[in-house]
Amino acid sequence: MARDYAETVKGDLAPLGRALPADTVPFLDLSPSHEALSPAIVEEISDLVRSGRFIGGPQVASFEAAFAAYCGTSHCVGLASGLDALRLALVVVGLEPGDEVIVPAATFVATMEAVTQAGGRPVLVDVQESDYCIDVDAAASSVTPRTRAIMPVHLYGQMADMRRLLAVAGQAVAVIEDACQAHGASRDDFRAGTGGLAGAFSFYPAKNLGAFGDAGALVTDDLELAEQVRALREHGQRAKYRHEWEGYTARLDTIQALVLLHKLPLLDAWNDARREAARLYLEALDGVGDLVLPPVAPGSTPVWHLFVVRTKDPAAMAEHLDRRGVSTGRHYPEPPHRSRAYAWLGHVEGSFPVTERLSAEAISLPIFPGITESQIAGVVDAIEDYFRDG
Ligand SMILES: *Cc1c(COP(=O)(O)O)cnc(C)c1O
Repeated sequence: MARDYAETVKGDLAPLGRALPADTVPFLDLSPSHEALSPAIVEEISDLVRSGRFIGGPQVASFEAAFAAYCGTSHCVGLASGLDALRLALVVVGLEPGDEVIVPAATFVATMEAVTQAGGRPVLVDVQESDYCIDVDAAASSVTPRTRAIMPVHLYGQMADMRRLLAVAGQAVAVIEDACQAHGASRDDFRAGTGGLAGAFSFYPAKNLGAFGDAGALVTDDLELAEQVRALREHGQRAKYRHEWEGYTARLDTIQALVLLHKLPLLDAWNDARREAARLYLEALDGVGDLVLPPVAPGSTPVWHLFVVRTKDPAAMAEHLDRRGVSTGRHYPEPPHRSRAYAWLGHVEGSFPVTERLSAEAISLPIFPGITESQIAGVVDAIEDYFRDG
């Protein structure tokens, strides 16, 4: 059966020291990425345990400096999750009741949670077929005097059209990028997370850059914003026990910073490996059955967080692939506006046709650094059989 992220990470990882049967393809296997790194990381974790310094420390500062340099921003603030990065950026923007934040309807629910938890009202717009990211024209026509921010989501690892979005936002509306699926992606002259006021990253283990648990970061060129988020992550204090704002517990753990410091230098190579896997899929699956292959916009260099194809009956395909030992995912079977959590927004079925088509038809194929050519060939074979037999 198709699995969601959380189940995937728990269920589909190769058990330590035990190889998966040769003919199965997990949806995600982190072990090829971790193999060479693990001994050094484990040793540093032992040192950390001996030192007892689990909060802050040079690991956090070093990772922040390294990730800011990687993105090309002046500042990076390490946080406990991607949601914290999105939410705290909006808290600093300062939303009054009734203030609106424009978000794409096709996203992981955290984008919505950030808006409502920061006191704003999410204004949803559809995504476009050309990149599955926010429809720029729809965003433009949704701007009102109450619009305080636009939060484009770089879905599946491909950036939204930042050049046109920034023009739509102008000076009065903040652009906060949800770059949680797009570490290292670029489009036109923009690098993920760096075009607007701030960029939010998640280091959830399954992301292109993943920690050994939950972690996140905000990147920005705005010193004031960085300092305020730095305070907010630690109960609103700049100096110990001087609380300037009502804050949160949202720090990046030392242990996660340590892990991320080891992994960041490999991110570009891992993204290259994903690109190669995507290239093989795109070549082999062209014209197979009714598949709609993932669109890549001109000027865009995605990092293939997910490889999402569309077909009429993704559940049937998932079941067929599962019988063949190939695990798949659905991203996302229920768009936020159709969820119980956001029913109060009152969006009926049909409100966002592209998003709804995507959620009805999308199935995510295995993609991760270290996936082998024969695993990809196995997935392709199983898909070809599905259309031949079906
Ligand atoms: C993963 C993700 C988030 C949230 O990240 P967490 O670290 O789980 O809070 C936000 N937006 C998108 C698009 C994501 O994929």
